[in-house]
Amino acid sequence: MLDNIRIVLVHTSHPGNIGAAARAMKTMGLSALYLVAPEQFPHIKAVEMASGASDILDTAVLVKTVEEAIADCTLVIGTSARMRTIPWPLFSPREMSEKVRQESPNSQVAILFGREQSGLSNDELHRCHMHIQIPANLEYSSLNLAAAVQVIAYELRLASLSQQGVSEDWDYRLANVDEMEKFFVHLQAVLIEIGFLKLNAPRQLMTRLRRMFLRTRPDVMEMNILRGMLTAVQEVKK
Ligand code: SAH
Repeated sequence: MLDNIRIVLVHTSHPGNIGAAARAMKTMGLSALYLVAPEQFPHIKAVEMASGASDILDTAVLVKTVEEAIADCTLVIGTSARMRTIPWPLFSPREMSEKVRQESPNSQVAILFGREQSGLSNDELHRCHMHIQIPANLEYSSLNLAAAVQVIAYELRLASLSQQGVSEDWDYRLANVDEMEKFFVHLQAVLIEIGFLKLNAPRQLMTRLRRMFLRTRPDVMEMNILRGMLTAVQEVKK
């Protein structure tokens, strides 16, 4: 289970936090670290804070955008100290770990952590299937980035230790982020073509549709059907 989970740190400012996050991961048996446009990396402070976990830094994958970090994932989880968006499926770290444990063994899971100053943007949060919040002190709820990674990694470890070989039997694999995003682009184009989505007054339409389709987690066959339906609508419009 732990081998299929990647920790994605988005636009981290302090290299020390990257090192401390690597250490938090290694103590719990996680090893895949993705860094989305960190401000300073590689950096001596990261190595210092990683202590004996600098191998995680050496194998960290550096990417420019969140999309690149999650394109091949079938489950994307966003962490946030507070909720700023329209409501999204929200879980505690324990509930999330249980869901990850129930994922098929070959599913790739990404957990996103935000910037020290401003967390994850709404756009980033809207790419996630679920959100998790560490239930902290309501008057002071924002943990240090690496401390948040530690809490989440610990819960994942507990869940992995209680794993009893759960693997869901399904006929097709779930659509990954890349396939879902192409679907959203197609869906938006069709909704504009048929005059349902008005670009001058889009409201929250695409966000709500995104939330709905992410909640249902279609497999690749269902995705083919949806794309086929959209293409058929476009044929009628011609
Ligand atoms: N000021 C920012 C907090 C950023 S803390 C804000 O208000 O959003 C840096 C990152 O640590 C967050 O983006 C999140 O990934 C993680 N984090 C901190 N506290 C958390 C909490 N209580 N629950 C879940 N994640 C948390």
